[in-house]
Amino acid sequence: MSNRIPALFVGHGNPMNALQVNPYTRRWAELGGALPRPKAILSVSAHWFIEDSAVTVSTAPKTIHDFGGFPRELYQVQYPAPGDPDLAARVQKELAPIPVRQEERWGLDHGTWSVLCHLYPRADIPVVQLSIDETQPPSFHFEIGKRLAPLREEGVLILGSGNLVHNMHAYAWGRHIQEPYDWAISFERRVRELLLAEEYRPLVAYETELGREADLAVPTPDHYLPLLYIAGTRTPSEPLTFPVEGVDGGSVSMLAVRVG
Ligand code: ZN
Repeated sequence: MSNRIPALFVGHGNPMNALQVNPYTRRWAELGGALPRPKAILSVSAHWFIEDSAVTVSTAPKTIHDFGGFPRELYQVQYPAPGDPDLAARVQKELAPIPVRQEERWGLDHGTWSVLCHLYPRADIPVVQLSIDETQPPSFHFEIGKRLAPLREEGVLILGSGNLVHNMHAYAWGRHIQEPYDWAISFERRVRELLLAEEYRPLVAYETELGREADLAVPTPDHYLPLLYIAGTRTPSEPLTFPVEGVDGGSVSMLAVRVG
């Protein structure tokens, strides 16, 4: 019997979710309780989108407050999970011959900790981050997900943190309620159908295959690509569910995708 751990894509949305109790963060907390407890977490965050592949190797990764203009309390949040240099070395081995640089300085960015502080509030599970190489095409990121899949058998939770629909120009900051845009709803619906049907090719080729809605939903690739890692870890016919749903501010999908 396999001890395979599910893989999870989470729509992290507004960094203020770290401090808030709302329908999304309640679901994240429930998920943390419902998932089998992982031995370690490998996080691929939209907010570590750089010019190469790198893994964090610090034994005590720092909490990075990589945003501006938020209330002081958000800058005081700490997520003191330990690192896991052995897992970082395993990631390098699984991805070889793709070079993966050991990164000492980067720690956990808000794509990772704003979600994990609800999923695992005790911060007692080691966390490693893997960067997203911005110089590579979407197919590369899907392939990396496939290569990382064996880690799930070893008790590693692979976490992708981004947002399936992420258009900050259209996003309604502040208090008024913005209904989800039609293009946001229909793009999300299409992606859900493709995931359920195990049709990954259009998801990888989203820029040309998913029409004009993709231009609006994914104006930049950083928040979308973490989904391709999680899709890549899925074995054929493995269950796939959407444990968190909703669109925030009209143009940010909070959809979560659970594989396994
Ligand atoms: Zn973000």
